[in-house]
Amino acid sequence: MHDAIVIGSGPNGLVAAATLARAGWSVLVLETQHRPGGALYSLPTTLPGFVHDVGAAFFPFAHASPALRSLDLGAVGLQWRSGLYESAHPALDGTCVSVSRDPDRAARSFGPDGDAWRRLAGWQASMGDRLAQALLCPLPDPRPALRLGLLNLLGLARAGLSTSAGYARRIFRTAPARRVLPALALHVDLGPEDFSGAALALVLALLAAGYGFQVPVGGAKAITEALLKRLQEHGGRIELGTHVDRILVKGRRAVAVVTNRGQEIPAGRAILADVGPKALYFDMLPEEAVPGYVRNAIRAFRYGWGTFKMDWALSAPVPWLADEARQAAAVHTGDSIEDLIRFTNEVRGGALPSNPYLVIGQQSLLDSTRAPAGRHTLWTYSRVPNRMAGGWQRHKEGFADRIEQRIEGLAPGFRQLILGRAIFAPDDLERMNENLVGGDLGGGSAQFDHQLFWRPAFPYFRYRTPVRGLYLCSASTHPGAGVHGACGFNAAGLAFKDER
Ligand SMILES: Cc1cc2nc3c(=O)[nH]c(=O)nc-3n(C[C@H](O)[C@H](O)[C@H](O)COP(=O)(O)OP(=O)(O)OC[C@H]3O[C@@H](n4cnc5c(N)ncnc54)[C@H](O)[C@@H]3O)c2cc1C
Repeated sequence: MHDAIVIGSGPNGLVAAATLARAGWSVLVLETQHRPGGALYSLPTTLPGFVHDVGAAFFPFAHASPALRSLDLGAVGLQWRSGLYESAHPALDGTCVSVSRDPDRAARSFGPDGDAWRRLAGWQASMGDRLAQALLCPLPDPRPALRLGLLNLLGLARAGLSTSAGYARRIFRTAPARRVLPALALHVDLGPEDFSGAALALVLALLAAGYGFQVPVGGAKAITEALLKRLQEHGGRIELGTHVDRILVKGRRAVAVVTNRGQEIPAGRAILADVGPKALYFDMLPEEAVPGYVRNAIRAFRYGWGTFKMDWALSAPVPWLADEARQAAAVHTGDSIEDLIRFTNEVRGGALPSNPYLVIGQQSLLDSTRAPAGRHTLWTYSRVPNRMAGGWQRHKEGFADRIEQRIEGLAPGFRQLILGRAIFAPDDLERMNENLVGGDLGGGSAQFDHQLFWRPAFPYFRYRTPVRGLYLCSASTHPGAGVHGACGFNAAGLAFKDER
């Protein structure tokens, strides 16, 4: 019998599994897909020889996350690359402001707002690793937050009470600088005018300034492979193509899982589920194992917007008009705060955005292993409604053309470079990974009422569930989306604690 069964091999599942195995537990990971990694993997989705990240592509937590650090993935061969600029923000009016880890370079790019950027970068430097520790630690431990000190806490609390547009207008004077923070907040479902949107925007900006938007050599799958090495060197195993349909509960304790092949696999000490909360509570657990009030709370769990993702194989780098964008790991489109507000309203209203906000990744500029010599890859996503009238497949090609047109406006000649493209509408993403419900890349809304003590639902914000020995460890738990492994790491920590 295995000590622990981990359901799902996304980064949180694998971090949990490797952490348990390192402590001497025998661990089995069950993954429904025929490849590991969840949204952390790479495939040649366009043409042979081009390596595209299927989901996560930039890793601000690579060096900041206590979970990833504890597994020392560098020692099993994981290597990182970064760009001159972390994120460029070009607009159709020809302006461009870029974030860089070098505060002087970034200050030059921010022009009249250079001193304001220096203050932010200085703030990040003064907090150092304490910021990530406070963000990623399990709740409700107040110690990492207290270690930040009162002034830093007040500064962060101010952002937590602000919209990203309001905060940007307060600290920057020029329109190009003001569009940076609202664009970062839109990685998730936080529009420029949403309460507390500044918190996530600020954290991403500070992480970019401090650690950068790093990319792993070989693609996102290199992180998954390194996590698997850590698991396997301690005797842990993964079984692919195995869906966990049910969890068996005996005397209010989780004792085994039942797979799609009808196998019953017992777990001696714990079961950790890297799955969505609705799947866990409504599909996998017997109804009588979950109190009615918990079922009601989970029923109210909301997912964020859909994600529309594209990959391209290119014959040359993107010919951005803005020089800085040609040297940036990531590029964010958004012509102004007003443009990003319009985008948000269109998505919330169920329409395809007319001028799509895009997060664009230029991984091959940093890592030459991503494409054949002289060729390049490009990765992008826009946020979109979860569902479209008549189904997504009807709208897919047309919206992909609109995205290409959007990039062409900022980089004339882009379309002529396209050798191949791959398109993933929200329903394609969900088929690839059932945790991406409605194509939401975040495992649940990032709005304030879905964070901290409310993720996935109060009072089960500490990875535990009403069933003893069963833990939820996906991005639907605190601290949410992103490849930091903290949900898995913290859940494994709770499993150890409960054992003791
Ligand atoms: C398009 C896109 C872009 C992104 N960009 C970034 C980025 O640049 N940087 C960043 O940090 N983050 C990014 N993210 C978010 C990040 O990838 C996720 O937050 C992270 O992968 C969540 O990890 P997880 O382990 O919780 O779940 P997932 O990665 O979703 O993995 C869950 C796994 O569990 C498996 N599973 C589910 N149910 C079962 C079951 N019943 N039985 C067996 N297996 C099951 C699934 O098949 C899947 O493999 C992006 C995500 C997407 C989709």
